[in-house]
Amino acid sequence: MKIRYCWRCRMDVPMLDSEEGKIASKLLAEGFQESKRLKKHVPENFKKLLDYYNGLTGFEETNPNAIMHHFINLYGPDCENCGKPYRTETATFCPKCGNKRKG
Ligand SMILES: [Zn+2]
Ligand SMILES: [Zn+2]
Repeated sequence: MKIRYCWRCRMDVPMLDSEEGKIASKLLAEGFQESKRLKKHVPENFKKLLDYYNGLTGFEETNPNAIMHHFINLYGPDCENCGKPYRTETATFCPKCGNKRKG
């Protein structure tokens, strides 16, 4: 787990590393199965995922959709200039400060 800036949330959030992401993806899938079984899509179905994420991060996240995009490997490395992550692995410039990424 690492605190990184999230472009969608527009704030620093705890992001999951690849090992944690694997576990979270599994719990997420279980949540979707639960939604299917109960025929309703409610955050309670994702309680295991929320508990895992919140236990790990000390956060009190209640929205499973937010966790789905808080995986470190969805984003690029940090910008050399301002430290915000590039939006993708292949991004060529930083949308925050306009810094051109060094090859
Ligand atoms: Zn976010
Ligand atoms: Zn930047």
